[in-house]
Amino acid sequence: MEIKAIRGFNDILPDEIGKWQFVEKNAREVFEGFGFSEIRIPILERTELFSRGIGEATDIVEKEMYTFTDRSGNSLTLRPEATASMARAYLEHQLYTFDPVAKLYCIGPMFRYERPQKGRYRQFYQIDAEVFGVENPMVDAEVIVMLVRFLRRVGLEKLELQLNTLGDRNCRPRYREELKRFLMNKSFQLCEDCQRRLQTNPLRIFDCKVETCQEAIADAPKVSDFVCSECQKHFDKVKEYLEMAGLEYILNPRMVRGLDYYTRTAFEVVSYQLGSQNAVAGGGRYDNLFQEIGGLEIPGIGFAVGMERLVSLLPKDKVFVSYPHLFIAALGEEPLKEAYRMINQLHLDGIRAELDYEGKSLKSQMRRADKLKARYVLILGEDELKRGKAALRNMGTKSQEEISIDKLSEILKSKIL
Ligand code: ATP
Ligand code: MG
Repeated sequence: MEIKAIRGFNDILPDEIGKWQFVEKNAREVFEGFGFSEIRIPILERTELFSRGIGEATDIVEKEMYTFTDRSGNSLTLRPEATASMARAYLEHQLYTFDPVAKLYCIGPMFRYERPQKGRYRQFYQIDAEVFGVENPMVDAEVIVMLVRFLRRVGLEKLELQLNTLGDRNCRPRYREELKRFLMNKSFQLCEDCQRRLQTNPLRIFDCKVETCQEAIADAPKVSDFVCSECQKHFDKVKEYLEMAGLEYILNPRMVRGLDYYTRTAFEVVSYQLGSQNAVAGGGRYDNLFQEIGGLEIPGIGFAVGMERLVSLLPKDKVFVSYPHLFIAALGEEPLKEAYRMINQLHLDGIRAELDYEGKSLKSQMRRADKLKARYVLILGEDELKRGKAALRNMGTKSQEEISIDKLSEILKSKIL
């Protein structure tokens, strides 16, 4: 029986990879321009890092983690997100002793046991950026500006930036109680999951997709009406700085984000081209995360971009694949050997060159050159080779000229590079 990949785990094939590389390259360029450095963190962590960091009563920890016991009996989890690991690394290596402000980004796969569907997989890629050590709302705005610049630079349009504030340890508990009281009267309308959420984490009911739950919560009190004056001031500044940067946003008082550790600023970028899984990126401030994982009191803010969703939104007319500059169609044993020698030199000269290893007919080699979308084909026969010549064919215009073999690299460079 043929072995297939696991459901929700995707291969990213060569004809798609150009898009991924394009996105990653732009992320690095934009983020590094904002003073961020890359960090690479392990894919496996102790389960506690996530259960404590993300929060026991979240969807991720309750039902989406890939957790297993290793041969020594340790409970380990495939990372469902990167923020907690990045915070752990910052504490573990005491990066704050070098500079209390750390601007970090990370690109890689995350794992969540979710129901696979379009835009939702069990292994998916995120680009993550985090700033640790700054409470000033200026950095909230800066991080959001960086995210939007990046998304626009790769060509995304019709984006909407949604913004909310979630309050903090001082004011959110009162909101929670108020929300709970409001929903208690409607608990008969709630799905089984939300009945439980009502006790453990009522804010999560906002994220429930069940229609009756959405109806129940439609007129619920808004968190923004309950935030304390400190949080309100912070949020006002975030908005002011976004406006200074010329960024438009809409306030969405129902956007609460799934993770427990968020405080104050929460944001999402949604695309109306995406259908129901419409969030391309999400993030927010988390001033309690570090304490949850046993560290100091350090503020943080960041976001994660979903790469599958982002890649699916890239402009359709843009070419992301690098086609060969040249295909050498060698006819006969000596020409093939010569082609091999030429290709080695061409590669050193920065020219993408291909040949046919099998010594097939000219017709079949031309077909292959066409399929590979080579821009030029060099036809190299025994007789021409003896004269030091070959025919160079432009596959676009179909025009053909005879050239000296020793001038090939020079000629191609003038045409291509
Ligand atoms: P959603 O509400 O779509 O489940 P989330 O709040 O769980 O998103 P985050 O944890 O904030 O998502 O992750 C940030 C981004 O990662 C999302 O906006 C989305 O683009 C992407 N993402 C999250 N989960 C998945 C998944 N299972 N498959 C593909 N992309 C995902
Ligand atoms: Mg989710």
